[in-house]
Amino acid sequence: MRVVLLGPPGAGKGTQAQVIAGRLVVPAISTGDIFRTNVSGQTELGKEAKAYMDAGDLVPDEITVAMVRDRLAEPDAKVGFLLDGFPRTIAQADQLRSSLADLGQGLDRVLELVVDEEELVRRLSGRRMVVDGQEVQREDDKPETVRRRLEVYREQTAPLSGFYQAQGLLSQIDAIGSVEEVTARAMKALGKPEHGQPDAG
Ligand code: ADP
Repeated sequence: MRVVLLGPPGAGKGTQAQVIAGRLVVPAISTGDIFRTNVSGQTELGKEAKAYMDAGDLVPDEITVAMVRDRLAEPDAKVGFLLDGFPRTIAQADQLRSSLADLGQGLDRVLELVVDEEELVRRLSGRRMVVDGQEVQREDDKPETVRRRLEVYREQTAPLSGFYQAQGLLSQIDAIGSVEEVTARAMKALGKPEHGQPDAG
């Protein structure tokens, strides 16, 4: 299956991406994770991306689109994939469609995790990662940057919801609840309900 996971920062995309990809037995491909790995490894790509990420802005499409095209051409993505954090603009979505068409492929479904903004701000400001046994805040989880990321999401990424709706690919998922509850809703939307229950609807 080829699936895109959409949703604002703080909606739980990263967590759900790992779990859902595990169930579907496809790689979870996160552009944010690829960028962060490159930033900490101080690669050329990381150096180019860092300033944008720290400001809460999108990394330019020239950089991002080529990176995703290369990643999707790797052998493990032949069986399918779950994309987390890409596309984030209509231009990226158009590029994705043509990259997939070149491979004779298309998307099967787009899952949008829906959470109200108040809850997002609450989750993000309390979020911590563990690095070398220490709890640290992600550089772009600082309050000013969180506000900017939400604004970028509203302006540039939210329009993808209508874009995919028009193609009949969109399923909106209520992302309030436990990780398991949200995963169960997602699996149902993918036509793969858990515990072997037939899909009621
Ligand atoms: P979140 O969804 O919590 O904002 P991500 O880990 O998906 O976090 O992304 C972190 C940052 O990486 C973004 O704010 C942006 O700077 C950059 N980034 C990730 N994916 C893309 C993309 N598809 N296009 C442009 N920039 C991206």
